[in-house]
Amino acid sequence: MRIARFTTGDDPEYGVVGGPDGDEIVAAVVGDPLYAGVELTGAQVPLADARLLAPVIPRSKVVCIGRNYAAHVEELGHDVPAEPLVFLKPNTSVVGPFDPIVYPAQSSNVHFEGELGVVIGRICRDVPGAKWKDVVYGYTVGNDVTARDLQESDGQWARAKGFDSFCPLGPWIETDFDPSDVAVATELNGELKQKGSTSLMLFDIPTVISYITSFMTLLPGDVILTGTPAGVGPMRPGDQVSVTVEGIGTLTNTVVSRG
Ligand code: ZN
Repeated sequence: MRIARFTTGDDPEYGVVGGPDGDEIVAAVVGDPLYAGVELTGAQVPLADARLLAPVIPRSKVVCIGRNYAAHVEELGHDVPAEPLVFLKPNTSVVGPFDPIVYPAQSSNVHFEGELGVVIGRICRDVPGAKWKDVVYGYTVGNDVTARDLQESDGQWARAKGFDSFCPLGPWIETDFDPSDVAVATELNGELKQKGSTSLMLFDIPTVISYITSFMTLLPGDVILTGTPAGVGPMRPGDQVSVTVEGIGTLTNTVVSRG
């Protein structure tokens, strides 16, 4: 099931996206299905007439895994980590499909990082690897936008990874999905830049969930970004960036200057 958050001009609502490709409809649901389950209101709108929003506003945090694909570790000249490398993006960095990524004045090297996102469904701590599915609500597409120059110069990554608009999520949450071997691809202005498979993650999703929850409580609506394949590179104002996760969908955003 595809769970979207959308607006037709009024307050944001949640809905289930269905129907044939290119002719989908959004069936509105009561409340937030992450907490309330899926109860249809009976109202429907063509997807083309709805503006999609970030499908989830992370309750407390976006937890990211750095250097989780060997080819990406190599392209940046780092060593393969012995344990998952965890960092945070603030929930204020989250934007939705087609929202602008604002190019900050402080950076001159802003990169895209296409990633698979995991949406947490329940409060959890110390999740054993074998129980990981119990705490996952679904999956979405993310772009871990990074000011690469500030990441190098700051040491701590809060600024480089945490600017407003540096965490596009969407277009929806897919709840029926096997994340173990799907393609993650990023296009910049229609040109393919990144293509990897989630099967190449150094630390797979069960390991990542177990590791994060060994020291940190995850809340429903928190999101894990699972790392980026090789091929990261710079974006400039005016560029359009699209991240596709096979079986979920495509997340597209445009880079704008602060102006
Ligand atoms: Zn990343």
